[in-house]
Amino acid sequence: MADQFDLTVIGSGPGGYVGAIRAAQLGMKVAVVEKNPTFGGTCLNIGCIPSKALLHATELFEEAGHNFSHLGIDIPPPSLNLAQMMAHKDETVAANVNGVSFLFKKNKITSFQGIGSVAGKGRVKVVGEKGEQIIESKHIVIATGSVPATLPGIDIDEEKIVTSTGALSLGAVPNRLLVIGAGVIGLELGSVWARLGAKVTVVEFLDRILPGMDSEVARQFQRILQKQGIEFKLSTKVKAIDKQDDGSLVARLEPAAGGDVTLIDADVALVAIGRKPFTQGLGLAEAGVALDERGRIVTDAHYRTNVDGIYAIGDVITGPMLAHKAEDEGIAVAELIAGQAGHVNYGAMPAVVYTSPEIASVGKTEDELKAEGIDYKIGKFPFTANGRAKAQLSTQGFVKVLADVATDRVLGAHIIGRNASEMIEALTVLMEFNGSAEDLARTTAAHPTLSEAIREAALMCGDGAIHI
Ligand SMILES: Cc1cc2nc3c(=O)[nH]c(=O)nc-3n(C[C@H](O)[C@H](O)[C@H](O)COP(=O)(O)OP(=O)(O)OC[C@H]3O[C@@H](n4cnc5c(N)ncnc54)[C@H](O)[C@@H]3O)c2cc1C
Repeated sequence: MADQFDLTVIGSGPGGYVGAIRAAQLGMKVAVVEKNPTFGGTCLNIGCIPSKALLHATELFEEAGHNFSHLGIDIPPPSLNLAQMMAHKDETVAANVNGVSFLFKKNKITSFQGIGSVAGKGRVKVVGEKGEQIIESKHIVIATGSVPATLPGIDIDEEKIVTSTGALSLGAVPNRLLVIGAGVIGLELGSVWARLGAKVTVVEFLDRILPGMDSEVARQFQRILQKQGIEFKLSTKVKAIDKQDDGSLVARLEPAAGGDVTLIDADVALVAIGRKPFTQGLGLAEAGVALDERGRIVTDAHYRTNVDGIYAIGDVITGPMLAHKAEDEGIAVAELIAGQAGHVNYGAMPAVVYTSPEIASVGKTEDELKAEGIDYKIGKFPFTANGRAKAQLSTQGFVKVLADVATDRVLGAHIIGRNASEMIEALTVLMEFNGSAEDLARTTAAHPTLSEAIREAALMCGDGAIHI
């Protein structure tokens, strides 16, 4: 007889594993099917966690080489032990994925290793090392995530022409790294290798970096990255990459609008043009589950697909491809299945670029407010006027708060600067509670902290900041 569950989750990334734990907390008998040998999905294995381990290590490497002498710490120029840096990254990944195994056991979640697919109403087929198994389940949540998008005619070998996965595990620092795509992943991993000495050139089809983020922030960030030695070729497309006999690469570039081809040499090319939903082998066509024009599973506001009893969450459905968005949807879908009022507030969903300085934003960009014809005011405060930033040699960037002229309600906030990833949480909480710029301006910030710049930006939405 087949195993019987209340809920079976296919995929153990941040969406799937968090949803499974929440469902178990709510008293459901839960199964998780995962095709990889470890749990945690893209985020824990080949995404957020390993990239942040390398970003942290290389940021310190860079600091030791540049800022230490100014702080009165004289050390010889740091030398790189790449194998150890990679070992640190691998240990970090292992600790996190093992943590998910522990949580599954703690919550009495049954895991199945293998490729899961929908095999009729309330049935999931698992094909793995143990052969074929059928799970019976009242509800099925698909959380199969996404995979890197590729360019036609450019073959990924994960050594010379790599996706983010290969770029997280290069065996040596490339002399010249070509990054295709100026989105979050391209700029984060480009920064990692630039800090270790690679000459990084970023080619972007659009006329700006970080599409979708506040354009003022993106412009300032591009200037900062250029000062760090990263070169940009915007409004440019990569037509082809040819492998040379000596192992190097030659990429053929063309203006986005068409025109003369130029050549650029590289040792490694990172294709970081985005990610696409992963639904292969799930049996969705046979089950009648509808996909949209971009291959994402179509759901309603309660994460229900068009087929009764089948739900979907995370990167495989619409919305920003972010781990915390997937996690929130995992919690919401479990609560909805349990008859509760699970809900995700997409209007207060932070997004971060973990470069140096960091960029963090929540809510609307100024570009969006303009396009929507909303009457907004801007409060902006630079870190050059913040005492803590001066003490830490981190005066680059600013905080920008956007508030509604009529109601003073904060509609969006954008930070470029050190620790922006941590500071954005204050603004996310404020927006979750529909707070105003005045609420923020009247909230004490400890002194001296970088967060004082948030309060000063909020004051700029009213009578003005104190320290500028
Ligand atoms: C380099 C990189 C850095 C990133 N950094 C960040 C960051 O800093 N912050 C952030 O918020 N996001 C980041 N992301 C994005 C983040 O990783 C994803 O948004 C997140 O992992 C999506 O979670 P998910 O649960 O939807 O899917 P995934 O994490 O992709 O997990 C899906 C899981 O399903 C499994 N699976 C697929 N099909 C089947 C099947 N048929 N049967 C069984 N198992 C299956 C897969 O093996 C995988 O384990 C990053 C991504 C990359 C690539």
